Amino acid sequence: MVEAVNVRKSFGDVEVLKGIDLTVAAGEVVSLLGPSGSGKSTFLRCINHLERIDCGEISVNGELVGYRRHGGRKYELRPRETAAARRHVGMVFQRFNLFPHRTAVENVMEAPVFVKRETRAAARSQALALLDRVGLADKAAAYPAQLSGGQQQRVAIARALAMRPTLMLFDEPTSALDPELVGEVLEVMKDLAADGMTMIVVTHEIGFAREVCQRVVFMDAGAVVEAGPPAQVLSNPTHARTRTFLQKVL
Ligand code: ATP
Ligand code: MG
Repeated sequence: MVEAVNVRKSFGDVEVLKGIDLTVAAGEVVSLLGPSGSGKSTFLRCINHLERIDCGEISVNGELVGYRRHGGRKYELRPRETAAARRHVGMVFQRFNLFPHRTAVENVMEAPVFVKRETRAAARSQALALLDRVGLADKAAAYPAQLSGGQQQRVAIARALAMRPTLMLFDEPTSALDPELVGEVLEVMKDLAADGMTMIVVTHEIGFAREVCQRVVFMDAGAVVEAGPPAQVLSNPTHARTRTFLQKVL
């Protein structure tokens, strides 16, 4: 489903991804852990071609991300083509960025109507079903300001799902939330995982990683230090850097 090979990325003189290799199978849920600045967000953004990589290759569903091969060479996709490819990948950030002047259901309908050109009626009924799925059937008409952070994040997840992605990327989806609101968002993500969605989740929620993810990938300083089943990486890490990190977050 996702295949990243030797992905390198620099900002100016600073190399922030130093040859990342990662394969994620369809239906797999992988959590990405690592200290601040280790390159987790940059790597997620590369998977969506929000950042252009300097070296290596990433493919999603067998399609090269951001490029097209032609006559043995690679050509960068045009913005329109990149946008079309991104439709298969849902992204949820720490900050939910809902449209403040649109209700929950309108936020979820937005992309299907304006990007996919679905009818408003079809988009609305899908949006209501998605809001129901994230436990917000009764908040369809509420504006973001009338919702708690946890509810807003659940609307953001419904909005990402409205494009029917085959892969969901989460970048610290609960770290901006008050502690008592974290659980409801993790619960929605857990349901999504149980439903077979392929997910890459950057998180400091070790409990979620342990319980829901098939694999934990620990990154430090732009490289994958170790990866494996949660029971191994979280309880029995091989590398000193992983142990040091876990001592801080546990
Ligand atoms: P955090 O846990 O704090 O979110 P992270 O692991 O997500 O950290 P990144 O945000 O990927 O780390 O950043 C990796 C490095 O790249 C950092 O040193 C950061 O300052 C740098 N960086 C990220 N984006 C840019 C940019 N657009 N321009 C310059 N440097 C950047
Ligand atoms: Mg980050």
